[in-house]
Amino acid sequence: MIAEAKPTTMRYPSHKKLNMEPGELYGAPSEKLFDIDGEGDFLPAPDLQDIAQVLIDRCTEFEHLLGQKIIYLWRREGGEQQGLATMGKCQKTSGLIKHFAESEWVIWLAADHVNSYSLMRGQVEALLHHELCHAGEMIDKEGNKKAKVIGHDFDGFIANVRRYGAWNENLKLCRNAWEQLSLFDYRDGDVDKETGEIRG
Ligand SMILES: [Zn+2]
Repeated sequence: MIAEAKPTTMRYPSHKKLNMEPGELYGAPSEKLFDIDGEGDFLPAPDLQDIAQVLIDRCTEFEHLLGQKIIYLWRREGGEQQGLATMGKCQKTSGLIKHFAESEWVIWLAADHVNSYSLMRGQVEALLHHELCHAGEMIDKEGNKKAKVIGHDFDGFIANVRRYGAWNENLKLCRNAWEQLSLFDYRDGDVDKETGEIRG
């Protein structure tokens, strides 16, 4: 029996995503597209790969990822953890997944949340940058470079910051980064390739 051809109009226009304006509504693959492709919970995400590759090429914080293979996927549903929507995840592979992925890292973004929170192109890029920040590196005892998951730099409660402000070193670093950004008003493409700093 010959399988019916997939309707081409339903294909996801992944090639159009890289050059969108930062303020444009991104539009992750719809529920329908996951059904049509019949690949279950995940879809390949060449659009995310393109955006992430520009970040890896431009940002010095990702120098160790240059030339590394990373798998990018859209996930049908991100779910939630401790009452917060899980927008994406950066996973270090091991065992069977590593064997088939032939990659140290798999990064997925939650298509349902990206759509329901109406994330814009710039926000999807920021989310990918966040996930890439988890993909770290360490040197083992033999001097070999090894993939290492990096935890968040800061964690806290808005109510706590409202009452006490930047009361620890961690929050001070966060506040400084925040103030620096508002000085320069980040725009897409304003990252200095040499230093990784954001240009005004
Ligand atoms: Zn994270």
